[in-house]
Amino acid sequence: MSYDSWKNAEKVAVLGAGTMGGGIAAHLANLGFKVLLFDISDDAAKAGLERTKEAKPPHFYDADSISRIETASIESDLQSVAQCDWICEAVSENLDIKRSLFERLENIVRDDAMVTTNTSGLQIALLMDGRSESFRKRFMGVHFFNPPRYLKLIELIPTASTSADAIRSMTEFLENRVGRRVVQALDTPGFIANRYGMWCLYQAIHTAEKLQLTVEAVDQITGPFLGRPRTGTFRLADLIGFDIMEDIAKNLMTRCENDPYLPILQAPASLAKLIEEGRLGNKTGGGYYRREGSQFLVANLSSLSYGQPSEDEMPAIAELGSMKLGERISALLERRDEVGEFVRCHIPPILEYAIKLGPEISHTARDFDRVMKWGWGWQMGPFELLDAIDRSALSKQFSPTAPPPIDRYYLDGKSYDFDKGAHAAQQDNPRFAEVASLPVSHEGQGFKVREDGLGGVVVEITTKMGVLNPDTVRALDDFVQRNLEKPITIANAGRAFSAGFDLTFFISAAEAGNFKEVESALEELQRLGANLRRALSSAAVNGIGLGGGLEVAMHCRTLVADPEALIGLPEALVGVLPAGGGTAILRMRSQGDAKAMVSACMTIAKGDKVPATAAKQRLFLRQKDVLASNPDQLLYAAIHADRAELPPLDWTPAPPPLAGMIDQQIQERKAKGEFGEYGVVIAEAVKHIFTKPANYQEALALEREEFLKLLGRPMTIARMKHMVETGKPLLN
Ligand code: NAD
Repeated sequence: MSYDSWKNAEKVAVLGAGTMGGGIAAHLANLGFKVLLFDISDDAAKAGLERTKEAKPPHFYDADSISRIETASIESDLQSVAQCDWICEAVSENLDIKRSLFERLENIVRDDAMVTTNTSGLQIALLMDGRSESFRKRFMGVHFFNPPRYLKLIELIPTASTSADAIRSMTEFLENRVGRRVVQALDTPGFIANRYGMWCLYQAIHTAEKLQLTVEAVDQITGPFLGRPRTGTFRLADLIGFDIMEDIAKNLMTRCENDPYLPILQAPASLAKLIEEGRLGNKTGGGYYRREGSQFLVANLSSLSYGQPSEDEMPAIAELGSMKLGERISALLERRDEVGEFVRCHIPPILEYAIKLGPEISHTARDFDRVMKWGWGWQMGPFELLDAIDRSALSKQFSPTAPPPIDRYYLDGKSYDFDKGAHAAQQDNPRFAEVASLPVSHEGQGFKVREDGLGGVVVEITTKMGVLNPDTVRALDDFVQRNLEKPITIANAGRAFSAGFDLTFFISAAEAGNFKEVESALEELQRLGANLRRALSSAAVNGIGLGGGLEVAMHCRTLVADPEALIGLPEALVGVLPAGGGTAILRMRSQGDAKAMVSACMTIAKGDKVPATAAKQRLFLRQKDVLASNPDQLLYAAIHADRAELPPLDWTPAPPPLAGMIDQQIQERKAKGEFGEYGVVIAEAVKHIFTKPANYQEALALEREEFLKLLGRPMTIARMKHMVETGKPLLN
């Protein structure tokens, strides 16, 4: 049987409307799937949906997403799963409940439908006891992480009966349509993420207690300093919840009785006490940390009473923070202070455990590493660390019974394959191409040009946070003008597409009275926009797309955005307005509807920024622009984006009442305190561009003129300096 039809799946049944079922349903609805959300009764499903709507951070993009979910009862409506292409089970973690559900489903689901379980702790193969071969062939574990919208890892766990075709189709489907990164894991307790990741978390807490370090010191050490997320150890435990941690630990201790490393999963004293007192982490208002008003208090690890955290940075962090991770850990292993002591007691054991577990729970070192990177946010996985750390310093700390590591886990672009006992090349979905992997053909001022492999180029902005400056804009424009025949994709390999134009340039030019220089920089930015409209252009906006950077992207023939990117034209917050064509474009996108024009004018006057999912509504994106269904496939989507010629820029005159309508909004918002005194001046300037020009070219000239007038005022310079110094807006 071929499962190719899965690629076009449209309707999904999610069974169980609890924490995970609700979150999975929301994620799928965000991506445009129709979802039937089941629970034991329709009321229970409706209540689950209500809880999902209230989740923080939000599970849903918007009301449209919510409208794609219908609730249903497992008792009375189970027949309707026959309409669904995918049946995704996420009911309570109980073998009997799940088994009897699959028994009932077997006679209802379509022959070509896929069936998966989200279990974290049960053996997948046991769930299929008694089921037909045809059912077992297309059944597998598809293990989402909480919250599904935000965590991109999926562990896919086939059983011995799952067909290779079903595994391949499901992997492609999850990667290309469900926005996930898939790692295939073996059907062993806790798979890879919970078995190993939870052990590392417990190990860090035990080590903290043994060395009597403070909670905040351990979080300083085990955050970005050791290549992990800012939550470190204790903030992460608070976030996960101690009840969930304990469930996972107990399940592992029951199921892996022959694993000699498991005593670590006994609750550390502090954790046991907190659980006993019902302090389970963030969900109960406090665990190792507690927020009191605007204060963030921290528990003393022995008394567990809360106090003020120490904010002192540890000397090792200041001294070694700029080294590469592998070298830093190597240096720490030899360092004689409390940070060195912690690292000696923590890093060797967790790497030793990875060496021991690798062949038992994963196919390759790369799979294991990816789980820790995509699921736990580590910068490097344990096998990458084993290759990067000085082995002699490390192995001194291994236990006498430690299994021997191999010399290198990664060699010549291959990673170690535990099944084969040799290094092997691993295939990857070509849609996950990364900017940095494309060959460079040219280096410009603040950008690199790379070959996209299809005859076009990717222009990578290389300045810090993609910040634009006059030299980069000039060089980019020159490049675009000379390559009008070639597909050009503008992208960034870093965390942000572009945070906007360099404010320090404007401040120093204004202070030196050098307004001519600013005017030509704005002309250049506008010219770049015009040339990008003529070119076969697209933009891949990841992370942050703001101000001048967004204006550049808005001129491209298609803009492709990561749905989680932050998008906006916040120039007003630094005392100016978008003058790279952004004000004129928003004005044109709203023209024809006076109310929409007022609202677009206020968007600019307030300097709004929104998630990309709301950016079409705010006109930062056109209807034809694209939200990438998988953020890791953003570049691929932008390279393959539509580059058809854009319609001419037809400017229709402002309807006569528009100026009055905008004035009224300005007054109302002023009264509500939204603008600050100076905000009114900026709003007036935006209004002029919306109401006065007779055509687009005049609007561009007026953008420059109003920008320069604002830049000449001390209130603007005060706003810009405040932003540069504090990163926050000044509402003077
Ligand atoms: P939950 O308790 O929040 O939700 C379970 C839901 O299933 C409840 O709404 C319950 O009413 C419903 N239910 C029970 N029996 C049912 C039946 N026969 N038919 C339909 N619905 C039924 O649990 P959860 O945390 O959402 O976990 C669900 C599954 O996902 C479990 O297998 C769990 O191991 C797994 N999981 C949980 C997490 C997590 O962080 N919570 C993470 C990954 C995987």
